Amino acid sequence: MTEKECFRCKLVTYDEIVEWTTDLAKKIRACNCKPTVIVGLTRGGWVPARLLCDLLGVKKLYAVKTEHWGVTANPNGKALLTQELNVDIEKEEVLLVDDITDTGESMSIAKAHLQDMGPEVLKCAALLHITHSKFLPDFYSVEVPEDNWAWFIFPWNRNEDLRTLIPKTLYEEKGVADIQKAFREQFQMNIPLEDVNITLGDLEAAGKVKRSGEKWTRA
Ligand code: AMP
Repeated sequence: MTEKECFRCKLVTYDEIVEWTTDLAKKIRACNCKPTVIVGLTRGGWVPARLLCDLLGVKKLYAVKTEHWGVTANPNGKALLTQELNVDIEKEEVLLVDDITDTGESMSIAKAHLQDMGPEVLKCAALLHITHSKFLPDFYSVEVPEDNWAWFIFPWNRNEDLRTLIPKTLYEEKGVADIQKAFREQFQMNIPLEDVNITLGDLEAAGKVKRSGEKWTRA
């Protein structure tokens, strides 16, 4: 048996993503910022970057990748740039986009990388900005006070996050209904039983959990 980990999670809907990107586009236009290139900071910035291309009429969409939140809600050391940009952005007006600035490390190292490539203008945008972030994006839609920190389960990461979070409820063996109850208690979020079942099936196939009768444990 291990300790139970508790932190607040918040499920984000696609409607909220559309609302926040639309709001970001308005703020970007209001500052007379007219990007010619959008760079999505993957993987979290990929969908917002694509939506902003549509809203702002930008054809050139590229990606860079950083990593340091190894698994859901666990930062594992310093952020690393794991995919550099391989196109010329000299003389371009570049907008770097991510879903959230939390530690701010990812945005910070991605911006430094792009700056070295000599763009004419370089601005940064995030849907959500947590006030404790050491990096302040030029544009963001929602400011999240650090006391309201949550792990935001973005719609494009929902299954991956559930595969990480559900095993945290198995600090002792449990049936499906008790997993759902423990999830609510540990992460302050309701999940449908169907999602618990689907996730357990995926985790079982991956050898991460096992079933004995009606009960589940970590493998
Ligand atoms: P950062 O800590 O600002 O370097 O965050 C890097 C990336 O980790 C973000 O782009 C998100 O994809 C993910 N991330 C960090 N904090 C959160 C959070 N509170 N909720 C959801 N995703 C997060």
